[in-house]
Amino acid sequence: MIITIDGPAGSGKSTMAKRLAKRLGFGFLNTGAMYRAVTLYFLRRRVDISNQDMVNSLLPDIHLEFSGERLFLNGEDVSEEIRLPEVERFVSAVSALPEVRQRMVELQREIARKGNYVLEGRDTGTVVFPDAFCKFYLDASVEERARRRQKELAEKGFSYEFTELVQEIERRDYLDKNREIAPLIKPEDAVVVDTSSLTPDEVEEKLYHEVKK
Ligand code: C5P
Repeated sequence: MIITIDGPAGSGKSTMAKRLAKRLGFGFLNTGAMYRAVTLYFLRRRVDISNQDMVNSLLPDIHLEFSGERLFLNGEDVSEEIRLPEVERFVSAVSALPEVRQRMVELQREIARKGNYVLEGRDTGTVVFPDAFCKFYLDASVEERARRRQKELAEKGFSYEFTELVQEIERRDYLDKNREIAPLIKPEDAVVVDTSSLTPDEVEEKLYHEVKK
């Protein structure tokens, strides 16, 4: 059984996917982390991603593996590094590459078909599993999403201007919603939840009861 949660950055997808998966005894797959890891790989090698041949030749060298919530890139735990703003700045461009998406979608299907899964991302209900049992689309105001991001970064010891984070989120929203391949859209049959003024517990209850309906 597959449950998908899509939505823009900071809408609460990861938190909710984790909580829901735990409560239902399902696996949890953070698809954004995979695009982030591919981005980190290209950044480290200073790859010009407009060079399609180069991208295609390097993709088979990228091996991603989850161990619980940790993500390993060619054997190295990159779970922390992929969260850095440097990766975030570049990830929308990398995830707009058709060859990257094709490979990630294949891998996501391979992982999730092993059992019951909650997947979260931008296209999990539209492209990866259009026949999912239950689909959600989470959203929240840009200000609230930037506030959450600022708090999350502060907990890791990073200090970023609020306005800078608002701009970064708006930029990423624009790129993710307007790309040609697998743009972020609400799946037609998704349950929409605006999380702006809800506590995590309240959102979790809503999602859980929807699944159990
Ligand atoms: O969810 P997260 O913010 O970690 O995702 C990082 C980026 O990865 C997104 O901004 C988007 O460009 C890309 N992504 C995607 N498709 C997904 C998940 C993430 O294109 N299913």
